[in-house]
Amino acid sequence: MICDDNILAVAFCRVRLALTHGLYTKAVTWWGVRVVEGARLERVYPDMSGSRVRIPSSPPLTDKVDEIDEMVQVETIHCIYLIYLFYLIHLKAMQTPVELVRRHSSPDGQTCQLFFRTEERVDFVEGQFVMLEPNIIYSHPHKPPKRAYSIGSTMQQMINSNTLTTIVKYTGPGGMSDYLVNQLKEWDKMNLMGSYGHMVDKGVSKNYLLISVGSGITPLYSIYQKLIQTHDYNRIARLYGEKFSKNLLPNLTHERAFNESPHCRHRCHLSREQDEMPAGRLPGRVGESLDAALEYLETTDISIFLCGHPDMVDEIRSILIEEKWFEKGQVKFEKY
Ligand SMILES: Cc1cc2nc3c(=O)[nH]c(=O)nc-3n(C[C@H](O)[C@H](O)[C@H](O)COP(=O)(O)OP(=O)(O)OC[C@H]3O[C@@H](n4cnc5c(N)ncnc54)[C@H](O)[C@@H]3O)c2cc1C
Repeated sequence: MICDDNILAVAFCRVRLALTHGLYTKAVTWWGVRVVEGARLERVYPDMSGSRVRIPSSPPLTDKVDEIDEMVQVETIHCIYLIYLFYLIHLKAMQTPVELVRRHSSPDGQTCQLFFRTEERVDFVEGQFVMLEPNIIYSHPHKPPKRAYSIGSTMQQMINSNTLTTIVKYTGPGGMSDYLVNQLKEWDKMNLMGSYGHMVDKGVSKNYLLISVGSGITPLYSIYQKLIQTHDYNRIARLYGEKFSKNLLPNLTHERAFNESPHCRHRCHLSREQDEMPAGRLPGRVGESLDAALEYLETTDISIFLCGHPDMVDEIRSILIEEKWFEKGQVKFEKY
């Protein structure tokens, strides 16, 4: 699921605005009409029988309608400003300042694992993502826009050292990935919002199939590390795909991590490697190891997570559901 908190925030603001505006306009109009009616009842005489006689005022009610309209418009604009102000304060309160303390880069420098220290503890569940934006002035002409980045570490690491990591892949000049990979320096500050997302492990099965390509490895690495830390699994099969070996973060996934547990199987495919295939890597795409991974798990009681390029996610998901007969609910995924 792709979830942008900008969309949520705008939708939320619109609903609030509509409600407040509607109620407010009604209230002001009601009050205005009462005032005009009051003026209209210029004199009230008790007659002999005790009933009241109403004498219309001058000018009549219709002359006041424009005045009320204008008043309602001015007050509505005030109301909108107030709501916007509260919204900005609310957004500011949701932000946590973080600073970059360390980075690891792939040999080609296009993929980075970033380590952020947070001032306050950020609560999250492994598999979720946060929104990041540079901590530079709002009017800065080259400020890249806020973007979603999955968390690549565990809550335990956050509790132990107030740090969280993400893995960022450079996608083009001028955007947030360019800023994070090429410009952000150690001790630079960022604003973090979140956590968000539903691609989390509910613990329904003890067997896991984790399939990712490119930066899609980030949330699955978080889920994987949590399982390794808690030993709360029976078997894990991990499939990972990249284009070239120069894209891989060596210290992260493919050397040490691959031998962390005897109950895990890992396969790393390099789809476009031209030179001799490095030891332990396979040619082609991750889908080619799907059958081997399912055979290794020896059961259909599996929690499956897919993350990364939309084409890979769609292809593997349809094979799992339509050809291998897994329930839709067993396959959690995120595309980006
Ligand atoms: C829930 C969620 C979690 C995410 N987690 C991560 C993460 O952990 N690591 C990570 O690196 N990214 C992640 N992303 C993607 C990230 O939010 C940005 O979209 C990405 O970094 C590009 O942002 P940008 O501002 O640099 O580029 P944009 O200004 O958005 O786009 C610049 C150019 O790059 C292309 N582009 C954008 N995204 C990609 C992509 N993923 N692959 C190839 N081309 C692309 C665009 O089509 C455009 O041509 C996640 C996205 C979502 C929705």
